[in-house]
Amino acid sequence: MNLLKDDFISTSQGKISLKTILTGEQNYQLQYYFDEIQLAMLQLLSSLSTVVLQPTVQELKDYLKNGLTPEQYEAALDKVESQWFESDCFMQSKPPTNAKWPDAPITKLLSGIECGTSANAMGLFSEIEQAEISCTDCMHALNYNLHMNIKGECFGPTGATGIRGGGAISTLIAGENLKQTLLNNTIAKDYFNDYAQLDSDAEQRPMWVAPLSGSVYQASKIGINRGLFALAYHIGFNIEDKPCLCDVCGSESEQSVKTFNREKYKGNYGSTKNGREAGAGWWPHPYTPRTIKEEGAFAVCARDQNWQSWQELGSYIVGKETDKATLEPAYIIKQFQYMKTPRQTNLLVGGNIADQGGITGRVYDLYSMPSSLNKHLSKVTQVLDSGLDQKNRLSQAFNKMFGAGYDKNFVGGIKENAMYRFTANAQQIIQRTLLDVERKEATELRKTAVIELKQEAQRIFMGVQRKYQHDLPLFKALVKGESALYRK
Ligand SMILES: [Zn+2]
Repeated sequence: MNLLKDDFISTSQGKISLKTILTGEQNYQLQYYFDEIQLAMLQLLSSLSTVVLQPTVQELKDYLKNGLTPEQYEAALDKVESQWFESDCFMQSKPPTNAKWPDAPITKLLSGIECGTSANAMGLFSEIEQAEISCTDCMHALNYNLHMNIKGECFGPTGATGIRGGGAISTLIAGENLKQTLLNNTIAKDYFNDYAQLDSDAEQRPMWVAPLSGSVYQASKIGINRGLFALAYHIGFNIEDKPCLCDVCGSESEQSVKTFNREKYKGNYGSTKNGREAGAGWWPHPYTPRTIKEEGAFAVCARDQNWQSWQELGSYIVGKETDKATLEPAYIIKQFQYMKTPRQTNLLVGGNIADQGGITGRVYDLYSMPSSLNKHLSKVTQVLDSGLDQKNRLSQAFNKMFGAGYDKNFVGGIKENAMYRFTANAQQIIQRTLLDVERKEATELRKTAVIELKQEAQRIFMGVQRKYQHDLPLFKALVKGESALYRK
Protein backbone atom coordinates (compact mmCIF):
# COMPACT_ATOMS: atom_id res chain seq x y z
CA MET A 1 0.00 0.00 0.00
CA ASN A 2 1.18 3.49 -0.83
CA LEU A 3 -0.27 6.45 1.07
CA LEU A 4 -0.07 8.76 -1.92
CA LYS A 5 -1.70 6.31 -4.32
CA ASP A 6 -3.87 3.68 -2.71
CA ASP A 7 -7.25 3.42 -1.00
CA PHE A 8 -6.38 3.58 2.69
CA ILE A 9 -8.70 6.36 3.86
CA SER A 10 -11.85 5.18 5.60
CA THR A 11 -14.98 7.09 4.58
CA SER A 12 -18.70 6.47 4.85
CA GLN A 13 -18.47 5.26 1.25
CA GLY A 14 -15.68 2.78 1.81
CA LYS A 15 -11.92 3.15 1.52
CA ILE A 16 -10.66 5.65 -0.96
CA SER A 17 -7.39 7.33 -1.94
CA LEU A 18 -6.11 10.86 -1.46
CA LYS A 19 -6.34 11.31 -5.22
CA THR A 20 -10.04 10.38 -5.20
CA ILE A 21 -10.79 12.98 -2.54
CA LEU A 22 -8.75 15.74 -4.13
CA THR A 23 -9.84 15.19 -7.72
CA GLY A 24 -13.44 14.00 -7.25
CA GLU A 25 -16.64 15.98 -6.94
CA GLN A 26 -18.24 13.92 -4.20
CA ASN A 27 -18.33 15.00 -0.61
CA TYR A 28 -16.83 12.20 1.41
CA GLN A 29 -17.11 11.88 5.18
CA LEU A 30 -14.19 10.45 7.08
CA GLN A 31 -15.20 7.44 9.10
CA TYR A 32 -13.21 6.77 12.25
CA TYR A 33 -14.65 5.89 15.63
CA PHE A 34 -12.53 8.32 17.59
CA ASP A 35 -12.63 12.07 17.09
CA GLU A 36 -8.92 12.32 17.79
CA ILE A 37 -8.22 9.99 14.85
CA GLN A 38 -10.53 12.08 12.67
CA LEU A 39 -8.42 15.08 13.65
CA ALA A 40 -5.16 13.19 13.06
CA MET A 41 -6.39 12.08 9.62
CA LEU A 42 -7.22 15.66 8.63
CA GLN A 43 -3.70 16.69 9.63
CA LEU A 44 -2.09 13.67 7.98
CA LEU A 45 -4.02 13.99 4.70
CA SER A 46 -3.39 17.73 4.43
CA SER A 47 0.31 17.05 5.02
CA LEU A 48 0.33 14.34 2.33
CA SER A 49 -1.47 16.72 0.01
CA THR A 50 1.31 19.25 0.68
CA VAL A 51 3.94 16.68 -0.31
CA VAL A 52 2.22 15.77 -3.57
CA LEU A 53 1.02 19.18 -4.74
CA GLN A 54 3.82 21.41 -3.38
CA PRO A 55 1.72 24.36 -4.48
CA THR A 56 2.48 28.04 -4.55
CA VAL A 57 -0.19 30.34 -3.08
CA GLN A 58 -1.43 31.04 -6.59
CA GLU A 59 -1.71 27.36 -7.49
CA LEU A 60 -3.44 26.55 -4.23
CA LYS A 61 -5.99 29.30 -4.82
CA ASP A 62 -6.61 27.87 -8.24
CA TYR A 63 -7.12 24.35 -6.86
CA LEU A 64 -9.53 25.73 -4.28
CA LYS A 65 -11.50 27.57 -6.92
CA ASN A 66 -11.45 25.15 -9.83
CA GLY A 67 -10.45 21.84 -8.31
CA LEU A 68 -7.76 19.66 -9.81
CA THR A 69 -7.95 16.86 -12.33
CA PRO A 70 -6.69 13.28 -11.90
CA GLU A 71 -4.09 14.11 -14.58
CA GLN A 72 -2.83 17.08 -12.59
CA TYR A 73 -2.56 14.88 -9.53
CA GLU A 74 -0.62 12.21 -11.44
CA ALA A 75 1.70 14.79 -12.97
CA ALA A 76 2.42 16.21 -9.51
CA LEU A 77 2.94 12.73 -8.08
CA ASP A 78 5.54 11.94 -10.76
CA LYS A 79 7.82 14.55 -9.21
CA VAL A 80 7.63 13.00 -5.74
CA GLU A 81 9.73 10.16 -4.29
CA SER A 82 6.59 8.16 -3.69
CA GLN A 83 8.48 5.06 -2.45
CA TRP A 84 9.02 6.94 0.84
CA PHE A 85 5.27 6.71 1.43
CA GLU A 86 4.99 2.94 1.14
CA SER A 87 3.17 1.27 4.01
CA ASP A 88 6.19 -0.75 5.14
CA CYS A 89 8.40 2.29 5.75
CA PHE A 90 6.19 5.38 6.26
CA MET A 91 7.09 7.06 9.58
CA GLN A 92 8.91 3.95 10.80
CA SER A 93 12.58 3.55 11.54
CA LYS A 94 14.84 0.91 13.03
CA PRO A 95 16.34 1.56 16.48
CA PRO A 96 20.05 1.20 17.24
CA THR A 97 21.07 -2.46 17.67
CA ASN A 98 21.40 -2.34 21.46
CA ALA A 99 18.03 -0.61 22.04
CA LYS A 100 15.39 -2.09 24.34
CA TRP A 101 12.61 -1.89 21.72
CA PRO A 102 9.73 -2.73 24.09
CA ASP A 103 6.35 -3.65 22.68
CA ALA A 104 2.94 -2.30 23.68
CA PRO A 105 -0.69 -2.76 22.63
CA ILE A 106 -1.93 -0.40 19.89
CA THR A 107 -4.50 0.81 22.41
CA LYS A 108 -1.74 3.09 23.66
CA LEU A 109 -1.81 5.04 20.41
CA LEU A 110 -5.24 6.35 21.29
CA SER A 111 -4.91 8.79 24.10
CA GLY A 112 -8.44 8.26 25.35
CA ILE A 113 -7.95 4.73 26.56
CA GLU A 114 -6.46 3.73 29.84
CA CYS A 115 -4.03 0.88 29.58
CA GLY A 116 -1.01 2.21 31.40
CA THR A 117 -0.12 2.97 34.96
CA SER A 118 -0.25 6.74 34.62
CA ALA A 119 -2.69 8.26 37.09
CA ASN A 120 -3.90 10.59 34.39
CA ALA A 121 -4.55 7.98 31.73
CA MET A 122 -8.27 7.81 32.39
CA GLY A 123 -10.48 5.67 30.22
CA LEU A 124 -12.65 6.87 27.39
CA PHE A 125 -14.31 3.46 27.32
CA SER A 126 -15.04 1.07 30.07
CA GLU A 127 -13.17 -1.73 28.34
CA ILE A 128 -9.78 -1.67 26.68
CA GLU A 129 -10.86 -4.32 24.16
CA GLN A 130 -12.90 -1.67 22.35
CA ALA A 131 -9.69 -0.64 20.62
CA GLU A 132 -7.40 -3.63 20.58
CA ILE A 133 -6.96 -4.40 16.94
CA SER A 134 -6.28 -2.25 13.92
CA CYS A 135 -6.12 -2.78 10.17
CA THR A 136 -2.82 -1.99 8.45
CA ASP A 137 -4.32 1.21 6.99
CA CYS A 138 -5.33 2.69 10.33
CA MET A 139 -1.94 1.75 11.75
CA HIS A 140 -0.61 4.86 9.97
CA ALA A 141 -3.28 7.09 11.47
CA LEU A 142 -2.40 5.77 14.93
CA ASN A 143 1.31 6.22 14.32
CA TYR A 144 0.85 9.77 13.05
CA ASN A 145 -1.36 10.58 16.04
CA LEU A 146 1.32 9.35 18.41
CA HIS A 147 4.03 11.47 16.83
CA MET A 148 2.03 14.66 16.43
CA ASN A 149 -0.66 14.73 19.08
CA ILE A 150 -0.05 12.48 22.05
CA LYS A 151 1.97 13.94 24.85
CA GLY A 152 5.13 11.94 25.62
CA GLU A 153 4.40 12.01 29.35
CA CYS A 154 1.45 9.70 28.72
CA PHE A 155 4.12 6.99 28.30
CA GLY A 156 6.01 7.85 31.45
CA PRO A 157 9.82 7.82 31.19
CA THR A 158 9.76 6.02 27.82
CA GLY A 159 7.72 8.84 26.27
CA ALA A 160 9.24 11.37 23.87
CA THR A 161 8.22 14.90 22.95
CA GLY A 162 7.73 15.38 19.23
CA ILE A 163 8.44 18.36 17.03
CA ARG A 164 5.13 20.08 17.94
CA GLY A 165 5.65 19.87 21.69
CA GLY A 166 3.58 17.71 24.00
CA GLY A 167 -0.18 17.82 23.68
CA ALA A 168 -0.26 20.84 21.38
CA ILE A 169 -3.56 22.34 20.31
CA SER A 170 -4.23 22.15 16.57
CA THR A 171 -6.22 24.64 14.57
CA LEU A 172 -7.43 23.65 11.13
CA ILE A 173 -9.58 25.43 8.56
CA ALA A 174 -12.65 23.35 7.82
CA GLY A 175 -14.16 23.87 4.38
CA GLU A 176 -17.57 23.01 2.95
CA ASN A 177 -16.45 19.49 2.14
CA LEU A 178 -13.51 17.18 2.76
CA LYS A 179 -11.66 18.18 -0.41
CA GLN A 180 -11.80 21.85 0.52
CA THR A 181 -10.76 21.11 4.06
CA LEU A 182 -7.66 19.26 2.87
CA LEU A 183 -6.77 22.00 0.38
CA ASN A 184 -7.37 24.70 3.00
CA ASN A 185 -4.77 23.01 5.18
CA THR A 186 -2.27 22.27 2.42
CA ILE A 187 0.86 24.36 2.84
CA ALA A 188 1.83 26.80 0.09
CA LYS A 189 5.59 26.46 -0.30
CA ASP A 190 6.37 30.07 -1.24
CA TYR A 191 4.41 31.61 1.61
CA PHE A 192 5.69 29.06 4.10
CA ASN A 193 9.30 29.68 3.05
CA ASP A 194 8.92 33.39 3.68
CA TYR A 195 7.29 32.75 7.01
CA ALA A 196 9.50 29.98 8.37
CA GLN A 197 12.93 31.28 7.28
CA LEU A 198 14.48 27.82 7.31
CA ASP A 199 18.05 27.36 6.07
CA SER A 200 18.38 27.08 2.32
CA ASP A 201 20.11 23.71 2.78
CA ALA A 202 17.46 22.38 5.17
CA GLU A 203 17.04 18.61 4.79
CA GLN A 204 13.87 17.71 2.90
CA ARG A 205 14.05 13.93 3.06
CA PRO A 206 11.86 12.32 5.70
CA MET A 207 13.44 11.10 8.91
CA TRP A 208 12.92 7.42 8.13
CA VAL A 209 15.05 7.94 5.00
CA ALA A 210 17.67 10.28 6.46
CA PRO A 211 17.53 9.69 10.24
CA LEU A 212 18.03 12.39 12.83
CA SER A 213 21.36 12.42 14.58
CA GLY A 214 23.07 14.34 17.35
CA SER A 215 21.59 15.51 20.61
CA VAL A 216 19.95 18.69 19.35
CA TYR A 217 17.62 18.82 16.34
CA GLN A 218 18.07 22.28 14.83
CA ALA A 219 14.71 23.58 13.63
CA SER A 220 16.20 25.61 10.79
CA LYS A 221 17.69 22.44 9.25
CA ILE A 222 14.34 20.66 9.07
CA GLY A 223 12.59 21.24 5.75
CA ILE A 224 8.82 21.36 5.40
CA ASN A 225 8.25 17.81 4.18
CA ARG A 226 10.59 16.45 6.84
CA GLY A 227 8.97 18.43 9.65
CA LEU A 228 5.40 17.56 8.70
CA PHE A 229 6.15 13.89 9.45
CA ALA A 230 8.81 14.39 12.11
CA LEU A 231 9.55 11.38 14.29
CA ALA A 232 9.97 11.15 18.03
CA TYR A 233 10.25 7.35 18.20
CA HIS A 234 11.78 4.55 16.23
CA ILE A 235 8.70 2.50 15.68
CA GLY A 236 7.67 -0.79 14.15
CA PHE A 237 4.33 -2.58 13.87
CA ASN A 238 3.73 -6.29 14.26
CA ILE A 239 1.52 -7.30 11.37
CA GLU A 240 -0.25 -10.64 11.59
CA ASP A 241 -1.77 -12.52 8.66
CA LYS A 242 -5.08 -12.86 10.45
CA PRO A 243 -8.32 -11.27 9.26
CA CYS A 244 -9.83 -8.67 11.56
CA LEU A 245 -12.60 -6.15 11.97
CA CYS A 246 -10.69 -2.94 12.63
CA ASP A 247 -11.55 -1.21 15.92
CA VAL A 248 -10.50 2.16 14.50
CA CYS A 249 -12.38 2.34 11.17
CA GLY A 250 -14.76 -0.62 11.31
CA SER A 251 -13.55 -2.20 8.05
CA GLU A 252 -12.73 -5.83 7.47
CA SER A 253 -9.11 -6.49 6.77
CA GLU A 254 -6.95 -9.44 5.72
CA GLN A 255 -4.21 -8.50 8.12
CA SER A 256 -4.30 -7.21 11.65
CA VAL A 257 -2.09 -5.23 14.03
CA LYS A 258 -2.28 -5.56 17.80
CA THR A 259 1.10 -4.42 19.03
CA PHE A 260 3.94 -2.10 18.15
CA ASN A 261 7.53 -1.62 19.28
CA ARG A 262 9.07 1.70 20.09
CA GLU A 263 12.25 3.34 21.24
CA LYS A 264 12.51 7.07 21.67
CA TYR A 265 15.01 9.17 19.76
CA LYS A 266 17.73 10.42 22.07
CA GLY A 267 18.05 13.99 20.80
CA ASN A 268 15.79 16.98 21.50
CA TYR A 269 13.64 19.27 19.42
CA GLY A 270 13.28 22.93 20.30
CA SER A 271 9.85 21.99 21.67
CA THR A 272 11.53 20.55 24.78
CA LYS A 273 13.27 22.33 27.63
CA ASN A 274 16.63 20.76 26.81
CA GLY A 275 16.34 21.55 23.13
CA ARG A 276 15.22 25.10 23.83
CA GLU A 277 18.13 25.74 26.15
CA ALA A 278 20.56 24.27 23.63
CA GLY A 279 19.27 26.71 21.01
CA ALA A 280 17.47 24.22 18.76
CA GLY A 281 14.84 26.82 17.86
CA TRP A 282 11.13 26.38 17.28
CA TRP A 283 10.01 24.52 14.19
CA PRO A 284 6.91 26.33 12.94
CA HIS A 285 4.50 23.46 12.59
CA PRO A 286 1.70 24.92 10.48
CA TYR A 287 -1.21 23.76 12.63
CA THR A 288 0.15 24.83 16.03
CA PRO A 289 -0.75 28.17 17.63
CA ARG A 290 2.18 29.32 19.74
CA THR A 291 3.06 31.43 22.72
CA ILE A 292 6.25 33.44 22.56
CA LYS A 293 7.86 34.25 25.87
CA GLU A 294 11.24 35.48 26.94
CA GLU A 295 12.46 31.88 27.30
CA GLY A 296 11.37 30.98 23.79
CA ALA A 297 8.40 29.65 21.83
CA PHE A 298 5.91 27.14 23.20
CA ALA A 299 2.99 25.26 21.72
CA VAL A 300 -0.37 26.44 22.97
CA CYS A 301 -1.79 23.63 25.09
CA ALA A 302 -5.07 23.04 26.77
CA ARG A 303 -4.26 23.50 30.41
CA ASP A 304 -6.63 21.52 32.55
CA GLN A 305 -9.86 19.63 32.47
CA ASN A 306 -11.96 22.70 33.13
CA TRP A 307 -10.49 24.47 30.17
CA GLN A 308 -12.76 25.15 27.20
CA SER A 309 -11.44 26.29 23.86
CA TRP A 310 -13.75 29.31 23.44
CA GLN A 311 -11.79 31.17 26.10
CA GLU A 312 -8.70 31.36 23.90
CA LEU A 313 -10.31 31.25 20.49
CA GLY A 314 -9.64 34.96 19.97
CA SER A 315 -5.90 34.43 20.16
CA TYR A 316 -6.08 31.53 17.68
CA ILE A 317 -7.46 33.79 14.98
CA VAL A 318 -6.08 37.24 15.69
CA GLY A 319 -3.35 36.71 18.26
CA LYS A 320 -2.99 38.43 21.60
CA GLU A 321 -0.36 40.45 23.44
CA THR A 322 -0.06 40.20 27.18
CA ASP A 323 2.68 41.69 29.31
CA LYS A 324 4.42 38.33 29.60
CA ALA A 325 3.78 36.68 26.24
CA THR A 326 2.56 36.99 22.69
CA LEU A 327 0.02 34.48 21.47
CA GLU A 328 0.25 33.85 17.75
CA PRO A 329 -2.22 32.04 15.53
CA ALA A 330 -0.96 28.97 13.72
CA TYR A 331 0.68 29.47 10.33
CA ILE A 332 -2.31 27.91 8.56
CA ILE A 333 -4.60 30.73 9.77
CA LYS A 334 -2.19 33.33 8.40
CA GLN A 335 -1.94 31.51 5.09
CA PHE A 336 -5.69 31.34 4.82
CA GLN A 337 -6.06 35.04 5.57
CA TYR A 338 -3.36 35.84 3.03
CA MET A 339 -5.09 33.81 0.32
CA LYS A 340 -8.32 35.78 0.79
CA THR A 341 -10.49 32.85 -0.24
CA PRO A 342 -14.02 34.23 -0.19
CA ARG A 343 -15.75 31.28 1.41
CA GLN A 344 -17.59 30.56 4.59
CA THR A 345 -15.29 28.54 6.80
CA ASN A 346 -15.24 26.85 10.13
CA LEU A 347 -12.36 26.69 12.51
CA LEU A 348 -11.58 23.32 14.01
CA VAL A 349 -9.79 23.37 17.35
CA GLY A 350 -8.58 20.02 18.59
CA GLY A 351 -6.08 18.35 20.87
CA ASN A 352 -5.45 16.77 24.24
CA ILE A 353 -5.49 18.50 27.59
CA ALA A 354 -1.93 18.66 28.91
CA ASP A 355 -1.11 15.75 31.20
CA GLN A 356 -4.45 14.08 30.61
CA GLY A 357 -4.91 10.99 28.55
CA GLY A 358 -8.64 10.56 29.03
CA ILE A 359 -11.85 11.62 27.37
CA THR A 360 -12.22 14.45 29.85
CA GLY A 361 -8.96 15.69 28.40
CA ARG A 362 -10.07 15.87 24.80
CA VAL A 363 -10.83 18.96 22.74
CA TYR A 364 -12.62 18.81 19.40
CA ASP A 365 -14.61 21.97 18.72
CA LEU A 366 -15.87 23.43 15.50
CA TYR A 367 -16.58 27.16 15.18
CA SER A 368 -18.29 29.01 12.36
CA MET A 369 -16.18 31.88 11.07
CA PRO A 370 -17.01 34.83 8.86
CA SER A 371 -16.07 34.21 5.25
CA SER A 372 -12.45 34.89 4.33
CA LEU A 373 -11.31 35.02 7.97
CA ASN A 374 -10.09 38.50 7.12
CA LYS A 375 -12.85 40.94 7.75
CA HIS A 376 -15.45 40.99 10.46
CA LEU A 377 -13.34 39.04 12.92
CA SER A 378 -14.52 41.47 15.58
CA LYS A 379 -17.90 39.79 15.20
CA VAL A 380 -16.27 36.72 16.70
CA THR A 381 -14.11 38.45 19.28
CA GLN A 382 -17.05 40.48 20.60
CA VAL A 383 -18.97 37.29 21.26
CA LEU A 384 -15.95 35.77 23.00
CA ASP A 385 -15.38 38.92 25.04
CA SER A 386 -18.94 38.91 26.30
CA GLY A 387 -18.35 35.32 27.44
CA LEU A 388 -15.19 36.30 29.29
CA ASP A 389 -16.93 39.33 30.82
CA GLN A 390 -19.80 37.19 32.08
CA LYS A 391 -17.35 34.64 33.48
CA ASN A 392 -15.53 37.40 35.31
CA ARG A 393 -18.76 38.75 36.83
CA LEU A 394 -19.80 35.31 37.97
CA SER A 395 -16.40 34.80 39.57
CA GLN A 396 -16.68 38.13 41.40
CA ALA A 397 -20.17 37.27 42.59
CA PHE A 398 -18.94 34.00 44.09
CA ASN A 399 -15.92 35.67 45.68
CA LYS A 400 -18.20 37.21 48.30
CA MET A 401 -18.52 33.72 49.78
CA PHE A 402 -14.92 33.87 50.96
CA GLY A 403 -16.03 36.53 53.46
CA ALA A 404 -18.55 34.21 55.12
CA GLY A 405 -16.02 32.82 57.58
CA TYR A 406 -15.89 29.27 56.21
CA ASP A 407 -12.94 27.08 55.29
CA LYS A 408 -11.33 28.40 52.08
CA ASN A 409 -11.21 24.98 50.43
CA PHE A 410 -14.87 24.35 51.08
CA VAL A 411 -15.93 27.65 49.56
CA GLY A 412 -13.35 27.36 46.78
CA GLY A 413 -14.80 23.97 45.83
CA ILE A 414 -18.31 25.38 45.49
CA LYS A 415 -17.02 28.18 43.32
CA GLU A 416 -14.82 25.99 41.13
CA ASN A 417 -17.62 23.58 40.44
CA ALA A 418 -20.01 26.34 39.44
CA MET A 419 -17.41 28.10 37.28
CA TYR A 420 -16.68 24.87 35.49
CA ARG A 421 -20.35 24.45 34.66
CA PHE A 422 -20.44 27.97 33.31
CA THR A 423 -17.40 27.62 31.01
CA ALA A 424 -18.68 24.27 29.73
CA ASN A 425 -22.18 25.57 28.99
CA ALA A 426 -20.81 28.82 27.55
CA GLN A 427 -18.86 26.67 25.09
CA GLN A 428 -22.12 25.50 23.55
CA ILE A 429 -23.75 28.92 23.67
CA ILE A 430 -20.81 30.48 21.87
CA GLN A 431 -20.59 27.79 19.22
CA ARG A 432 -24.33 28.10 18.63
CA THR A 433 -24.25 31.91 18.49
CA LEU A 434 -21.43 31.85 15.96
CA LEU A 435 -23.48 29.73 13.58
CA ASP A 436 -25.14 33.04 12.62
CA VAL A 437 -21.86 34.87 12.11
CA GLU A 438 -22.45 35.38 8.38
CA ARG A 439 -26.12 36.20 8.63
CA LYS A 440 -26.19 38.65 11.52
CA GLU A 441 -24.65 42.02 12.16
CA ALA A 442 -22.03 42.38 14.88
CA THR A 443 -24.32 44.21 17.33
CA GLU A 444 -27.10 41.71 16.94
CA LEU A 445 -24.73 38.82 17.36
CA ARG A 446 -23.21 40.32 20.46
CA LYS A 447 -26.63 41.03 21.93
CA THR A 448 -27.73 37.43 21.50
CA ALA A 449 -24.54 36.19 23.13
CA VAL A 450 -24.81 38.60 26.06
CA ILE A 451 -28.42 37.68 26.78
CA GLU A 452 -27.81 33.94 26.67
CA LEU A 453 -24.56 34.02 28.62
CA LYS A 454 -26.09 36.29 31.26
CA GLN A 455 -29.04 33.96 31.67
CA GLU A 456 -26.69 31.03 32.02
CA ALA A 457 -24.53 32.77 34.63
CA GLN A 458 -27.62 33.80 36.61
CA ARG A 459 -29.12 30.33 36.38
CA ILE A 460 -25.97 28.79 37.82
CA PHE A 461 -25.69 31.46 40.49
CA MET A 462 -29.31 31.04 41.58
CA GLY A 463 -28.85 27.29 41.72
CA VAL A 464 -26.05 27.71 44.25
CA GLN A 465 -28.09 30.28 46.18
CA ARG A 466 -31.00 27.86 46.38
CA LYS A 467 -28.76 25.06 47.56
CA TYR A 468 -27.42 27.12 50.45
CA GLN A 469 -30.58 29.07 51.33
CA HIS A 470 -30.63 27.58 54.83
CA ASP A 471 -26.98 28.33 55.46
CA LEU A 472 -27.35 31.92 56.55
CA PRO A 473 -23.74 33.19 56.35
CA LEU A 474 -23.27 31.71 52.86
CA PHE A 475 -26.67 32.84 51.69
CA LYS A 476 -26.07 36.40 52.85
CA ALA A 477 -22.68 36.46 51.12
CA LEU A 478 -24.28 35.27 47.90
CA VAL A 479 -26.94 37.98 48.10
CA LYS A 480 -24.10 40.49 48.35
CA GLY A 481 -22.54 38.91 45.26
CA GLU A 482 -25.65 39.53 43.19
CA SER A 483 -24.65 43.10 42.41
CA ALA A 484 -21.59 41.98 40.44
CA LEU A 485 -23.74 39.70 38.39
CA TYR A 486 -26.76 41.90 37.78
CA ARG A 487 -25.15 45.30 37.23
CA LYS A 488 -25.39 46.73 33.73
ZN1 LIG B 1 -8.93 0.44 10.09
